[in-house]
Amino acid sequence: MHTAFISHPDTLLHVMDGNHPESPARISAIKDRLIGAQVYDHLQHFESPLATDEQLARVHDPAYIRRIRELAPQAGIVHLDPDTAMGPMTLSAALHAAGAVVMATDKVISGKALNAFCCVRPPGHHAGRANAEGFCIFNNVAVGVAHALTHHGIERAAVIDFDVHHGDGTEDIFRDNPKVMLCSTFQHPFFPHRGADSRIDRMINVPLAAGADGAAFRHAVEHEFGPALSAFRPEMIFISAGFDAHRDDPLASLNLIRDDYIWVTRYIMAIARRYAQDRIVSTLEGGYDLISLADSATAHIRTLADI
Ligand SMILES: [Zn+2]
Repeated sequence: MHTAFISHPDTLLHVMDGNHPESPARISAIKDRLIGAQVYDHLQHFESPLATDEQLARVHDPAYIRRIRELAPQAGIVHLDPDTAMGPMTLSAALHAAGAVVMATDKVISGKALNAFCCVRPPGHHAGRANAEGFCIFNNVAVGVAHALTHHGIERAAVIDFDVHHGDGTEDIFRDNPKVMLCSTFQHPFFPHRGADSRIDRMINVPLAAGADGAAFRHAVEHEFGPALSAFRPEMIFISAGFDAHRDDPLASLNLIRDDYIWVTRYIMAIARRYAQDRIVSTLEGGYDLISLADSATAHIRTLADI
């Protein structure tokens, strides 16, 4: 049982509006598939703690954290941007989502788990230093990375983001931090319309045209991510695991399939074995077709757990 699976019941209680694609059903679909595929019982299960303001403030402007706390409604819905809203349980879900990545980082660095998957929402990779965006409120993966650097003294961390959307919030937070490399494949041109012109050596951004398939994705990982990661030699790897580049996803137009997620997970595990003592913390980002999300995430987790 070397893989930790970290979630929290409040992750099911964050609801934006009736038909929003970023829905609690995403979490239920993944858990149900893990059980059906007989993967669930092979994982170490943990409930995530709330992230603290100290942990959040490593990557977010303190005034932004205060604003989110103040905006959190007692009832009804408050919109942070046209795509992103808070209901009465959203603040708790968001704090538990960021707290999950902190807990995962502690488990993996202490050796209590070889790797970890955080099954949480809201997702995080569009949240910048002082803004919510694209269904994201706190940048969960960034909070975990900052915890690894500041609390545990990790010198070099890599974030590999295979969500179909560019991890613009993660780039915003770490673009000036020499201890962090971001490797992101994303559909372009497409929301959030950033990433294609970053011109920073540690920001390995690989735009993919609409319609690109697994061959183009694997080529990008092998020929762009691989050499950069080998030169950077990360001591720990974080994954922004979005599954919305799947061909069945309704929000985007790439054509990955389950085997591509298994392949990239194995590729990242090989890099982690070479440089990072196997240390991988993966966290859920996007993925909006419930069937392909559950199938791809289960394949990813099964691969991490080596079962
Ligand atoms: Zn996405």
